[in-house]
Amino acid sequence: MKPKQFVVIGLGRFGSSLALELMDLGYEVLGIDRDEEVVEDMSEFLTHTVVADATDEEVLKSLGIRNFDCGIVAIGDEIQTSILAAILLKESGVATVVAKAISVLHGRALEKLGVDRVIFPERDMGIRVAHQLVTPNLLDYIELSKDYRIVEMTVTDCMDGKTLNELNTRVRYGISVVALNQRSGVIVAPTAMDILRAGDIMVVIGSKENIDRFEGEVV
Ligand code: ADP
Repeated sequence: MKPKQFVVIGLGRFGSSLALELMDLGYEVLGIDRDEEVVEDMSEFLTHTVVADATDEEVLKSLGIRNFDCGIVAIGDEIQTSILAAILLKESGVATVVAKAISVLHGRALEKLGVDRVIFPERDMGIRVAHQLVTPNLLDYIELSKDYRIVEMTVTDCMDGKTLNELNTRVRYGISVVALNQRSGVIVAPTAMDILRAGDIMVVIGSKENIDRFEGEVV
């Protein structure tokens, strides 16, 4: 299968880290920045790099932007520039356009333009870190909706040696353990007889309220 091709506009802290990670994951990345020095620093790490102004429609056309599967506008501070680049990416026909927003209003404007996914890196990371700080065994989580989430958490000492049957999360807390990451490997859809070991990572799904209750009692 043809690998997905990404174009990242703006190679600041966010854009460059995103571009490098995509490269690490094995995808092709074109990085665009108007700052020559920035492009020079990144050129050896990305598939292609170009010094260009992303608000120049002709330049984007000449780079064949429309052939990319996904375009990411990673311009932060200049809202006007970010919006112009997002319009041009959307109009060029790039399949999926993602853009970074620095404020709620900036995000709303990007959504109105039809940007497929608006991200707020600073806000989202702040929220994530706050959760991790107040819940020591919480590693990460995904919001499925306002009320439901998938949470990755460390198995604590008080769960050590217990089977999932003994823990009985479904009946006691209304949450399900959907995977276990143990030293011996990952168990997807573990059975009632699987044994938990302190330090393992468990992935649970449930309502926010029930997961909070579970986390509060098993620390
Ligand atoms: P971060 O907060 O992620 O570091 P910045 O806003 O500091 O983001 O960086 C954005 C990058 O986008 C900078 O490297 C800047 O040169 C680049 N940039 C800004 N405007 C344009 C533009 N019109 N075309 C291409 N690159 C741009």
